Amino acid sequence: MPERFDIAVVGGGAAGLVAAASGARRGASVAVLERLPRTGKKLLATGGGRGNLLNENLAAPAFTSSDLGLVASVLDRFGAAEIRAFFEGLGLRLRTAPRSSRSWSSRSDVSAFR
Ligand SMILES: Cc1cc2nc3c(=O)[nH]c(=O)nc-3n(C[C@H](O)[C@H](O)[C@H](O)COP(=O)(O)OP(=O)(O)OC[C@H]3O[C@@H](n4cnc5c(N)ncnc54)[C@H](O)[C@@H]3O)c2cc1C
Repeated sequence: MPERFDIAVVGGGAAGLVAAASGARRGASVAVLERLPRTGKKLLATGGGRGNLLNENLAAPAFTSSDLGLVASVLDRFGAAEIRAFFEGLGLRLRTAPRSSRSWSSRSDVSAFR
């Protein structure tokens, strides 16, 4: 393991792991500093243990925020299509439940986040 990194991410939860993957994909060396023995613990609990990675019906009104315009502008730039492409670019296979908008990966795939 190198002694120096370009980026240090504190916390290996959903947000930290996506930040780390984004940095690494741009060629940076990244260290994830997680206080628990493993990363992605809460992520693995989502979707009843399946790892709920995406809701295809992402829309600002579904969020609780004092600034729904900000939420909408974020979703305009990084919405459902971009999220799906991000995870599939990492090699995760997303499946969408029949008659549902929720997508998840197989548990073994999500375990790759550790
Ligand atoms: C049972 C359960 C089911 C859920 N189901 C869903 C679902 O189906 N769909 C959905 O969208 N969301 C779901 N959620 C919510 C989702 O898990 C959270 O919104 C998401 O995990 C938040 O990600 P995060 O990275 O912000 O925080 P976290 O996942 O909490 O990650 C933060 C990480 O930082 C670490 N950390 C904190 N402080 C430090 C420190 N000082 N030094 C080092 N590390 C530190 C923590 O240990 C943790 O690993 C569920 C949550 C739970 C608990």
